[in-house]
Amino acid sequence: MSDPSEGALEFTVAGVWREFRVSCPHPDVLRAARLGGLPEDAAAFVRFHLEESRCPYCSAVAQELEILDQEAERSTGADVNAAQERVLRSTMTFLRRVEG
Ligand SMILES: [Zn+2]
Repeated sequence: MSDPSEGALEFTVAGVWREFRVSCPHPDVLRAARLGGLPEDAAAFVRFHLEESRCPYCSAVAQELEILDQEAERSTGADVNAAQERVLRSTMTFLRRVEG
């Protein structure tokens, strides 16, 4: 058996890329990309998928995740400024996608 933490990381990255190649990134991947939690190459693929491929399914999922995150932050009383900043950032991403 290999090192558990290393194996887990490899499994996750491999799973991410498998998702990418088959069709659409998993919603968890879209969320991670939105929160800046993906490696740059994976994040770049998600951006490409949303902004260049303009996948309507993933765009809808991304917007849904955005709303869910906002509601979660509201219900837990999380920092409002952070939520606003997140909305601004995702709005800019959306506008860039529309204009591009
Ligand atoms: Zn997609």
